[in-house]
Amino acid sequence: MHELGVAQQMVHLALEYAKENNASKITQFTIEMSQAVDESEDSLRFHLETLARGTIAEGAQFDIQRVPVHLHCLKCGNEFSQDYLGEACPNCHSARVVPQVHDEFKLASIEIE
Ligand SMILES: [Zn+2]
Repeated sequence: MHELGVAQQMVHLALEYAKENNASKITQFTIEMSQAVDESEDSLRFHLETLARGTIAEGAQFDIQRVPVHLHCLKCGNEFSQDYLGEACPNCHSARVVPQVHDEFKLASIEIE
């Protein structure tokens, strides 16, 4: 599953960061998840909790926020943000818009102790 890889990457990043900062515990993850992602927050949270088990991130809060999709219009090149997929381009009204996939998931911040 796609979000398992994402979860592994986020936990890995957070643990590296915590190590560099001599943290003894990671208490919170804030994650931004694009509206374009066709997965539930619960699914991602489940993977994160499973991966955090046995590490200093065990028991951390996972705050997963849905953020607008960044879309790119294939017809006129317009770039815009929308809450949902399936919106037409506000500039030329073309339906040929594609999400910018590079920002599907983002580890926005973590809190360490
Ligand atoms: Zn357009």
